[in-house]
Amino acid sequence: MNLPVKSKETNAEVQNLYSDAYDWTNQCVKCGYCLPACPTYESMGVESASPRGRINLVKMAAEGKIDFQKDLAQPIDLCLGCRACETACPVGVPYGHILEAAKEAIENSQPANQKNKMTKMKKLALVHLFPFPKRMNRVGSVVHLYQKTGLSKLIRRSNVLQKVSPALAHLEQALPTTESSSKRIRKGTIIPAKGETKLRVAFFTGCIMDSMMSRINRLTIELLTLVGCEVILPENQNCCGALHSHQGETKQAKELAKSNIRAFMQAEADVIVNNAGGCGASLLEYEHLLANEHEWSGAARDFSKKSKDISQILYQLGPLPFTEEWQGVVSYQDSCHLRNVQKVQQEPRSLLQSIPGISYVEMEGYDRCCASGGIYNLLHFDESMKILDEKMRNLKETKATTIVTVNPGCQMQMSIGIQREGAAANQIKSMHLVEILAKACGLD
Ligand code: SF4
Ligand code: SF4
Repeated sequence: MNLPVKSKETNAEVQNLYSDAYDWTNQCVKCGYCLPACPTYESMGVESASPRGRINLVKMAAEGKIDFQKDLAQPIDLCLGCRACETACPVGVPYGHILEAAKEAIENSQPANQKNKMTKMKKLALVHLFPFPKRMNRVGSVVHLYQKTGLSKLIRRSNVLQKVSPALAHLEQALPTTESSSKRIRKGTIIPAKGETKLRVAFFTGCIMDSMMSRINRLTIELLTLVGCEVILPENQNCCGALHSHQGETKQAKELAKSNIRAFMQAEADVIVNNAGGCGASLLEYEHLLANEHEWSGAARDFSKKSKDISQILYQLGPLPFTEEWQGVVSYQDSCHLRNVQKVQQEPRSLLQSIPGISYVEMEGYDRCCASGGIYNLLHFDESMKILDEKMRNLKETKATTIVTVNPGCQMQMSIGIQREGAAANQIKSMHLVEILAKACGLD
């Protein structure tokens, strides 16, 4: 369907991209049930920071009543993309798809000479870094050297990053300890199951997970083999494209999706497993992303159907052979994209509760976004920290000594929250689900 009114500010391409989103906005009945679920509405308190408000603005922009850049860009940019509104919506408005279409339209409606420095840097990283595994791995090696040589300690002591950007300083401190690239399991490898083979699994290594958190990937593979999976690491797999979709770079997101579909379909695995909530949601939505490309839509559907989070497979093939008792209280922070897009909520909790000796306490607001939001915490540091500080107050109430997540961004955001809480809260550790399970199985 074409847009009913042509915006003076938009070109034909933008209008075209925007037409589906316009149809979706008309599904919203403005009931407001989504408002209490929205973290930015709660923290900012204005209609334009709510899902209903944003949907209405998208609709008005499509009708040419408001301007894409002046009126729509900021409210859309301040959305975390957590999609809690989708889970709360009684009529199933596909907010995530509206958001991505709006971002793409905003991106395309901005004249090149008006893009600011940050936008240009973002684009540079999205186009020239994330889609290139070798470049990402070089970044991982540089971070490893930076940490290993003690340079990171010097930089922290000098406080120089804090002066340049508090957001960057927080992020630097939250970086996980990066392993040497020699420990990374090479793509193309097949790792046999320990004991009887129950499932043939193709493992999606991710770009950040592969370059900066390869230890978690290695432990993921060990856990999978422990429950009877033969694990294949398909060659030529690439970044999932989540960051690209979230930043309006849909064309590149589609290219990445196609390259992953090609790489994984050759593996002929029973399932495709990932260990990052954000990536998993993106893999699950390849079906939607490529729905209009006839030569790809069938393969994309098959790919999405096979895509599973690590917690689903460990839960399905468990129980895990635990060897150690866990000391202390553990709480769990949902990854929004695992909860609201992949609809996985119970499996990570059941796995945690099955660890011997564990004391599991649910945190108030466990289902609310931690405000990591991809790179939201870098782009909107103050807004992000306001939401995070509230989460840390809730975490303290649980008296947890470990907070568990299933997404690298959430895990780092939890670490940032712990830093911000100061000395007393330094007793709290932020762990990936795989790390705690591996430790309880004596793998780490
Ligand atoms: S998005 Fe859904 S819950 Fe929110 S106002 Fe519209 S119809 Fe209601
Ligand atoms: S995605 Fe999250 S932040 Fe954005 S409107 Fe929906 S609930 Fe609010």
